[in-house]
Amino acid sequence: MTAKSAAAAAQATVYGYPRQGAQRELKKAVEGYWKGRIGADALKEIAEGLRRANWQQLADAGVHEVPTGDFSYYDHVLDTSVMVGAVPARHRAAVEADTLDGYFAMARGNQDVAPLEMTKWFDTNYHYLVPELGPDTVFAADSAKQVAELKEALAFGHTARPVLVGPVTYLLLAKPAPGVAPDFEPLTLLDRLLPVYAEVLADLRAAGAEWVQLDEPALVQDRTPAELNATARAYRDLGALPDRPKLLVASYFDRLGEALPVLAKAPVDGLALDFTGAAAANLDDLAAVGGLPGKRLVAGVVDGRNVWINDFEKSLSVLGTLLGLADRVDVAASCSLLHVPLDAAAERDIEPQILRWLAFARQKTTEIVTLARGLARGTGAIAAELAANRADLASRAGSPITHDPAVRARAAAITDADGRRSAPYEARAAAQRDRLGLPLLPTTTIGSFPQTAELRTARADLRAGRIGAAAYEERIEAEIQEVLAFQEKAGIDVLVHGEPERNDMVQYFAEQLSGYLATQHGWVQSYGTRYVRPPVLAGDISRPEPMTVRWTSYAQSLTDRPVKGMLTGPVTMLAWSFVRDDQPLGDTARQVALALRDEVDDLEAAGTSVIQVDEPALRETLPLRAAGHAAYLEWATESFRLSTGGVRPDTQIHTHMCYAEFGDIVRAIDDLDADVISLEAARSHMQVARELAEHGYPREAGPGVYDIHSPRVPSAEEAASLLRKGLEAIPARRLWVNPDCGLKTRGWPETRASLENLVAAARTVRAELPES
Ligand code: GLN
Ligand code: ZN
Repeated sequence: MTAKSAAAAAQATVYGYPRQGAQRELKKAVEGYWKGRIGADALKEIAEGLRRANWQQLADAGVHEVPTGDFSYYDHVLDTSVMVGAVPARHRAAVEADTLDGYFAMARGNQDVAPLEMTKWFDTNYHYLVPELGPDTVFAADSAKQVAELKEALAFGHTARPVLVGPVTYLLLAKPAPGVAPDFEPLTLLDRLLPVYAEVLADLRAAGAEWVQLDEPALVQDRTPAELNATARAYRDLGALPDRPKLLVASYFDRLGEALPVLAKAPVDGLALDFTGAAAANLDDLAAVGGLPGKRLVAGVVDGRNVWINDFEKSLSVLGTLLGLADRVDVAASCSLLHVPLDAAAERDIEPQILRWLAFARQKTTEIVTLARGLARGTGAIAAELAANRADLASRAGSPITHDPAVRARAAAITDADGRRSAPYEARAAAQRDRLGLPLLPTTTIGSFPQTAELRTARADLRAGRIGAAAYEERIEAEIQEVLAFQEKAGIDVLVHGEPERNDMVQYFAEQLSGYLATQHGWVQSYGTRYVRPPVLAGDISRPEPMTVRWTSYAQSLTDRPVKGMLTGPVTMLAWSFVRDDQPLGDTARQVALALRDEVDDLEAAGTSVIQVDEPALRETLPLRAAGHAAYLEWATESFRLSTGGVRPDTQIHTHMCYAEFGDIVRAIDDLDADVISLEAARSHMQVARELAEHGYPREAGPGVYDIHSPRVPSAEEAASLLRKGLEAIPARRLWVNPDCGLKTRGWPETRASLENLVAAARTVRAELPES
């Protein structure tokens, strides 16, 4: 095919669409089903209606080929486990008794069985259920869901393309089932899995699929030669199947790298590649392998995971180059639109001019269709859209919101000294010991105390105008009094105010920083029926007024013990927001860091002697490929130091992270130069403490001794034995005693009992120390 005919054939498509519905109908229906308020038939009917509406919306917008099978009651990786028959033994009875209830049992567990583990889908904020596999896993094809949804779409008259998680990615996302050797590699099951995919593909072909999409995002990560060989084998085998649908292998979130030549050579009919952000490197890589002669290329030029309008001219230029590299070029978003909210037009509180900079799933669909039309018929066919796009981009680039001279000047004047404490750790530790007078093995918590129903009601009442600001603040003060009184009575050494005023650790700050936008309806799926509304980092960031000083000072006025100030760090602020795409992430992080630095300095000036800056997202934001790690960790640690570097030596800086695996960022943790770090460790039996020790971590650490993820109350003896384990790795004068994470999801009864046991454990173990 010539470039000209490739262009003429250009079509618009997407890989997936938000599942929840405009009013989050799916969340309500699924939760209603769990509570027994609606039956399975009603749930199925609602789901069908949502799918139908999505397809119609896509088709009306001009999308030629709609996706099917991307819908899910809970998670598409769990759907894949069902499709290949990988139901863990402990869930089999539930699945046999009732397919739908068994499905939800795998997702959420029940009284008798634990659910599948949940983890992040690559570097997005979507979480999937991790397949559990072992040498005894027997796969069996169950194509019912995929076939039914394809037939539904076809019955409505759409051209439809089923979308499946590809076999290689499925296995690479899996982990050894409980009881299976931890070094078992699920990828060794590939030969057993391929026949199951073959069966599903045949069923889809029989049901009328011309094309089937196999998603292989795992191939954008660093892969071993063995993994690349397995990929080659998988697609050689699937490609060789007789009477199969055409296969489109999709990748997203980064460049394919070494996997590109493998897939380009595979006997499949098309590739879908990401051309946004760093993945734009796919363009040169594709040229280097000689393009995809005879194949279809689906070009993801519209960013599927961020909320900004596309740059049409830039995309058309990429598409133009691609025309010479494949037989047919179609236009798509870089990944499923699952990761963005549904419709920017639903936002009422965002200024109309700024709203024009935003594109959610609906707007992105229109962009994709416009680009496909421009590609097929020439820019003349989209002249009006191009002009409007140019104007919107210019308005964003020239806006005082995105270019605040004061913020820019301040960022430009940052020096190395700003990110460095004024004294080395040893001197700081001595000054802090004098000022704080803490015992050995000091006890503290991570910040939040139970967020009770009354607190949430008070917040809702304030928002709805049912109560005034004064009444709300009184309510918060009363809560702080209670939290302080409990901690004093329990004998905790470093207290917290309990964060009762915070809805969410990122949103609370986003609402008070200028440059951030909040949405009213910008829900995106985090996992299952949990949806979040990430704030949008839209402009240059500054802090007009102190954000937390009032509450921390109030708490401090109630006690003689130190009250720890609590802030969310710059990396986490970025990780759980939609970020700017018009400047490097490091620049945005630096602006947020300076705003937080103002808060840290104000807390210190108000007399706060201990300040914690939480960075639970430090590790999850790590780039997918190792090549990107160093540059990321550089700006990530720099921005943390910038936010905390301005305090006196005798002000103690804490940080907190909650995950047990952090081997690959231990050096970065050290680079934060925080005086104290608290980490999740209870479930891994203090493994974290040993790892810190192995790396020679020189400062103070509090590996958690209370697993806050469960309502279970650890006994004092249990906490004491964890502490003794901690002492094997970390000397007493550097070991803190604290829970794994904040207590906001816990109830008061178990929180009280657990913290009392934690203090008792600290006292017992202190008494055993030769130092005491
Ligand atoms: N300070 C926060 C809290 O206790 C930290 C939460 C987190 O690490 N995710 O809630
Ligand atoms: Zn935490």
